[in-house]
Amino acid sequence: MSAKILIVEDEESLVTLLTYNLKAEGYSVVHTASGTDALMILQEERPDLVILDWMLPGLAGIEICRQIRARLDTRSLPIIMLTARGEEGDRIRGLQTGADDYIVKPFSVSEFLARVTALLRRASPERIANVLVGNGIKLDRVAHRVTRFGREVNVGPTEYRLLEQFMENMGRVLSRAQLLDGTWGRESDVDERTVDVHVGRLRKALVRGTEPDPIRTVRGAGYVFDSDL
Ligand code: CA
Repeated sequence: MSAKILIVEDEESLVTLLTYNLKAEGYSVVHTASGTDALMILQEERPDLVILDWMLPGLAGIEICRQIRARLDTRSLPIIMLTARGEEGDRIRGLQTGADDYIVKPFSVSEFLARVTALLRRASPERIANVLVGNGIKLDRVAHRVTRFGREVNVGPTEYRLLEQFMENMGRVLSRAQLLDGTWGRESDVDERTVDVHVGRLRKALVRGTEPDPIRTVRGAGYVFDSDL
């Protein structure tokens, strides 16, 4: 799973432009034109970064920014604010309210993409890394290839996504519900036992002979991928 970006912006042509270019870079994109919907979408989609327009119908960008910072689960979510040229006072207020970066319209797409990547690299490096490494395992997102101790590991598409989610969250316990959301998507009607089945398959693919099992079962909580041997 690549980083997910939420765009909160009511200017349709700009949204189209940004969405197109972000997707071309491999990001997944969700969008809303309404400030009021933004907070709900945040909770549902759990994006890795938010592009927030200053002037929005409904709730203003700065108010959304304030609310994102006030909530425990989104407190450190990276935010880039967009504003019209010359609103210097807005710029200062935006940064004071907790935006991480600020871009003045009109801006070049390449500059925009560079800022997004820079911010993500700081905030969640594991979401944009091309290669994830841990416990002898190397997951190459470009080649879509998994190896362990240098040997090729053959995994199905579901096990691949599952492993990717584990390796993005090394050392962190993931509940079955979180694994379901991350690997199958929120819309799926898969049940939690299916998670166990696929974790079992993934383990079988990863572990040869006396090699350590990188996935630890945490009773009553879920699973955790241990980063080290
Ligand atoms: Ca606007």
